Amino acid sequence: MKAHIVTLPGDGVGPEVTAAAVAVLDAVAAHFDHDFRFEEHPIGGCAIDASGDPLPPASLAACKAADAVLLGAVGGPRWSDPNARVRPEQGLLALRAALGVYANLRPLQVHPALAALSPLKNEKLKHVDVLFVRELTGGAYFGAKTRTSDSASDECRYTVAEVERVVRRAFELARGRRRHVTSVDKANVLETSRLWRSTVQRIAADYPDVKVEHQLVDSMAMLLLTQPSRYDVVVTENLFGDILTDEAAALAGSLGLLPSASLGDGRSGLYEPIHGSAPDIAGQGVANPVGAILSAALLLRHSLSLEREALAVEAAVDRVLSHGPHSRDIGGNAGTAQVRDAVLAALEEDA
Ligand code: ATP
Ligand code: MG
Repeated sequence: MKAHIVTLPGDGVGPEVTAAAVAVLDAVAAHFDHDFRFEEHPIGGCAIDASGDPLPPASLAACKAADAVLLGAVGGPRWSDPNARVRPEQGLLALRAALGVYANLRPLQVHPALAALSPLKNEKLKHVDVLFVRELTGGAYFGAKTRTSDSASDECRYTVAEVERVVRRAFELARGRRRHVTSVDKANVLETSRLWRSTVQRIAADYPDVKVEHQLVDSMAMLLLTQPSRYDVVVTENLFGDILTDEAAALAGSLGLLPSASLGDGRSGLYEPIHGSAPDIAGQGVANPVGAILSAALLLRHSLSLEREALAVEAAVDRVLSHGPHSRDIGGNAGTAQVRDAVLAALEEDA
């Protein structure tokens, strides 16, 4: 198939890990006889340096026209002055809003070879395979804000339509997995959570084959650490999802391993590793490219419907995590290029 993929390498280690992911997509295209065309654009700090704008109109227009967008990371100390007029992160928030990507997917698995890096004991980590679905465009992050000298407020608002679309996405995803949805809210205290819960209950009737469970966010924070293998798909609102997914990321052993996909109603999507620009290691060629490479696998799966190709990339990564080489963040001493080449070799052997 033909696909037009926009890459936004961004700042810090973003360009290094994005290049590795593009190399893997190129290899996939060669093996499976696809025609992937890549078009690179600036976003974040590098875009501010070039044009004063963290999301230049040409970058946004290219993303809107693309079949999928692969992003590295944005930000860094050079642009982090809190009083600055423009900040790199504004480019990313504006891009998510403009693309209408309301469902943020973060799969979490704990590779057996890396279990020792996790803060949990081995037996708890067996069979951890969770897909978080976080609402990305509503809630307290987007509500009205007020500030006086002695008070402040952040409005948390959700419409039924906003809840419904992300919850339906979670149920659909559960059908391709173990058919178990855990909805996380704070319905004992918050009105938005009561709306959330009743919407989930109504939608659940359309998915009688999927088991539904409701958890309060405070107990969920504990359960993720005590019984992580109980969960399949976990769906929640924006703020709770932000916190729980970072907590869950710690279970995997390194931020450098985990991918994400942000999806809207169309087929396109925004794919990025969950880690930031890692300024402390930028430019050294040592960043772990696995999170970016697995994000490319999600791109193949969700925007291009190339499931076989996505599985091939995931199997290649799995093989490298089992046998090495490993980058520094997971206890090895391999550089980005060495890990990339090992993934390419594993892909070659399996394909
Ligand atoms: P942001 O604010 O952009 O989310 P952050 O403050 O969460 O960023 P990161 O940039 O993700 O921080 O970096 C956190 C730590 O994880 C740093 O020590 C960094 O070096 C390390 N790290 C992040 N990504 C990788 C990677 N791909 N490979 C190796 N180490 C990484
Ligand atoms: Mg962060």
